[in-house]
Amino acid sequence: MGEPRLVLYNTLTRRKEEFRPIDPDNLRVYACGPTVYDFAHIGNARPLIVFDVLFRLLRHLYGADHVTYVRNITDVDDKINARAARDYPGMELNEAIALVTGKTTDQYHADAKALGCLEPTIEPRATDNIAQMQNMISTLIARGHAYEAAGEVLFDVTSMPDYGALSNRKLEDQQAGARVAVDEHKKNPGDFVLWKQSNDQEPGWPSPWGVGRPGWHLECSAMSERFLGETFDIHGGGLDLIFPHHENEIAQSRCAHGSQRMANVWMHNGFLQVEGQKMSKSVGNFITIHELLATDKFGGRSWPGEVLRLAMLMTHYRDPIDFSRRKLEEAERLLAKFARKVGEAPVTDNVDAESVAFLSDDLNFSGALARISALEGEVLASTLSMLGFSQYRIRDAAGMDEAIIAERIAERLALIARKDWTQADAIRDELAEMGVQLKDGKDPETGERVTDWEMR
Ligand code: AMP
Ligand code: ZN
Repeated sequence: MGEPRLVLYNTLTRRKEEFRPIDPDNLRVYACGPTVYDFAHIGNARPLIVFDVLFRLLRHLYGADHVTYVRNITDVDDKINARAARDYPGMELNEAIALVTGKTTDQYHADAKALGCLEPTIEPRATDNIAQMQNMISTLIARGHAYEAAGEVLFDVTSMPDYGALSNRKLEDQQAGARVAVDEHKKNPGDFVLWKQSNDQEPGWPSPWGVGRPGWHLECSAMSERFLGETFDIHGGGLDLIFPHHENEIAQSRCAHGSQRMANVWMHNGFLQVEGQKMSKSVGNFITIHELLATDKFGGRSWPGEVLRLAMLMTHYRDPIDFSRRKLEEAERLLAKFARKVGEAPVTDNVDAESVAFLSDDLNFSGALARISALEGEVLASTLSMLGFSQYRIRDAAGMDEAIIAERIAERLALIARKDWTQADAIRDELAEMGVQLKDGKDPETGERVTDWEMR
């Protein structure tokens, strides 16, 4: 067998590239995980799912034992401190923080599982890696890339000639365009915090620069170095992390290691908005993964995790998603159709090669899905399982969808009343594909048109 062919879009070079692992026996991937101060929202589900598909594809192509996937937990951050103080007033802050991060991490794990995501190979917590972070700071200071000022250690962005390469920002433009007033103690407005001192309430660790805590960017540089080495294969996250988070990770890691690359390929998922609007608490369209799966807050009903997973993947990972009830319904119908076609077929290694070829072209999931829709039985079951879909089978296709079927029938009757035959027929055909046969008739008493159904 030759090397698998895999093409990925690289934010660093702004083009699709043939992927070449540093070590085909140990592919090394890092994705930035959550800051555990609040339950993950459905936008956060996107990188979770996208990089899980990447992890699964790499395991399929290179062998399950040959991929190391690190996804961290950021459990020290000022947003966590603020949330702990708000939710547990009067409690000792560090105790309150433990409650917030513990509860949020548990929910995050439950969400990831419900969405069909594998556990990452390693899930480091920032607070378990403070010594590594402090070592990196010492190295950066020794190499002239960082300095102490006003109780902080800061990274000097002018010490790195190609700072800004990932986000394609030139330092001069950043400086000239900076509207924020320069903090007095910073040498340059773009300098960012590696370490800051804590008061005796805040979480803090002893260090040569006083009792303090790390900056967010530093956490990922230290954890990726520890578990994946100085240069690794792929680094992922959402689009909003390109600047400043990933730019600053690159600056820290490359300057500490004296290396040309932190990761060879940088992948970023596009953003998700809801029914045409940015998701935000003030707009009132903010929804957590947990709420979508376990309450009727979105579209008046709850949704299975795999329905959310499929709905998310139907849009290419780099494109924006406009999330809607319609998308979920479409995904649910598709899963019901798959459930019917899979029947009792077993999951084996018999994964469809053409579907894999589509995915190997920068995760072209839509292409794969069109192909998957034509599969049957064992190959269909195995290909879906490789992609993280297996729970759909537990639910019997007919039982699962009674409510949906009733709703689609009502929609069709309304279309018929409007003489929109094309749309009405489309619904009939779509239900037929799910194995639902419609039987039109008249109500004997009222003479109204009614539709009954049965499973074929
Ligand atoms: P955060 O906890 O805000 O650092 O976000 C965790 C991950 O979710 C990061 O990779 C973000 O880029 C990503 N993310 C946050 N909001 C969205 C969104 N609306 N759509 C897609 N990805 C998002
Ligand atoms: Zn990160």
